[in-house]
Amino acid sequence: MGASRIGVLALQGAFAAHAAVLRELGADVREVRVPSDLDGLDALVLPGGESTTMSRLLVTSGLFDAIAARLADGLAALGTCAGMILLAGEVLDGRPDQRCFGAIDITVRRNAYGRQVDSFETDLAVNGLDHPFHAVFIRAPIITHVGAAVDVLAEHEGRPVVVRGGNVMVASFHPELTSDGRIHALFLSTFQGV
Ligand code: GLN
Repeated sequence: MGASRIGVLALQGAFAAHAAVLRELGADVREVRVPSDLDGLDALVLPGGESTTMSRLLVTSGLFDAIAARLADGLAALGTCAGMILLAGEVLDGRPDQRCFGAIDITVRRNAYGRQVDSFETDLAVNGLDHPFHAVFIRAPIITHVGAAVDVLAEHEGRPVVVRGGNVMVASFHPELTSDGRIHALFLSTFQGV
């Protein structure tokens, strides 16, 4: 099998850092800005950034419906922070016009870690990784509900922070901001079947 073709949603946010980690892992990476960029992709990564802005740009670019259709067809996806909010089934404390794909059965609350700890870093035990992952949380959402078919791969202080449902995986922090590619590798393994 050739290198996986991975799209990185590149409307706003930390897309360049994701692309760099994925290229390091040998993926064939394409930045996604218009619907035709989705053609032939094996998976899509939705980065951190600002979910309300990304939601608006997704609609104006015509990408929202195109991505929704590919996700409904089973396209694998990784969402981090704002990207997790976009993939969620329900968003609390969102803007009224904010949209989400409902690709994974979770509810998230935006900016829920609170002002005094808007950003923090911690070492997390993650199922499938043999030693802790250094996780960077930036104005992170909290996962407040996880559906029965969703697996929790990591928790922080009793709350899920990495979860997977089918071939959709999300993290409330930014695995692309460290030089450790193991979360991305774990994601690639979920649909490459390795
Ligand atoms: N607070 C942001 C939002 O609501 C997410 C923050 C991030 O992606 N670092 O979209």
